[in-house]
Amino acid sequence: MTDKEEKSPGTLYIAATPIGNLEDITLRCLRVLGDVDLIAAEDTRHTRKLLTHFQISTPLISYYREKEAIRASQLIKRLLDSESIALVSDAGTPGISDPGAVLVGLAHANNIRVVPLSGPSAVTTALSVAGLTNPHFLFLGFAPSKKSQRRTLLTSLIDAPWPLVFYESPRRIEGLLADIMNTMGDRNAFWARELTKSYEELKKGSISSFLEHATATTNRGEFVLVVEPGESVEAEGANLSELLLWYRDNTSLSLKDVSRKLAGDLGLSRSQVYQKALHVYKKKAEPQS
Ligand code: SAM
Repeated sequence: MTDKEEKSPGTLYIAATPIGNLEDITLRCLRVLGDVDLIAAEDTRHTRKLLTHFQISTPLISYYREKEAIRASQLIKRLLDSESIALVSDAGTPGISDPGAVLVGLAHANNIRVVPLSGPSAVTTALSVAGLTNPHFLFLGFAPSKKSQRRTLLTSLIDAPWPLVFYESPRRIEGLLADIMNTMGDRNAFWARELTKSYEELKKGSISSFLEHATATTNRGEFVLVVEPGESVEAEGANLSELLLWYRDNTSLSLKDVSRKLAGDLGLSRSQVYQKALHVYKKKAEPQS
């Protein structure tokens, strides 16, 4: 090829890898991982183990959240230079609560072919065994780690008519369950721990029973939590004061959570609703969380 001839770009493969059981890798994924010029991996040491298991010796380069923008432009250059690249994350499907979106976005912008290698993802794996008849679900991924932000998110979802799917780490599962209990009440839920692994644990039950279980045991492993919708009850009240009183008398939400919810529902500032709530509930301000 002379310098003047245009090279055609390589292909970017987005490759799903197992979330536990290595037998869950697809034949297509194995073939492509062996054929590409380069594998971009969230953690190269982790992916090296997977590749060694399947006797694949394709070179690896790191691609993780903190370096996503810089690394994505380097990879785009190589793709434009006709190299083919596969992106993998530590487990499951890249881009699903994992890095990938920046690279995929740039690839589309540069007319580079993007090919998904479909396969495992914890969200679909959990839902496949949750036995929910509702045909819809809302995937939230990780709830915010900061408690106040988490409670703001949860209060905004109280009336959502769909099952809510959360990812969570062992360190934070208790906090998430406690906040769900305090904002949404004791809902029906599905707990999927260590999916496809030796200590897989699948349970249907109430949030309070999972909270008890989580408090009593060592929470090793990774979790998907599916929270079913609550019974929809229409709040009654012609103005903010009446609505505040209705929530006080008909729910177990704290004054702060009622303020968060009504501020979101009515498009008012939270401090404005909070001040009004203090007045209506005849309470003193609580410390900030
Ligand atoms: N990209 C992945 C996917 O497609 O599912 C998700 C990556 S995210 C960083 C990791 C989270 O996914 C974990 O904290 C956990 O909530 C969930 N997860 C991953 N593997 C799991 C497993 N084997 N069992 C239960 N949850 C899992």
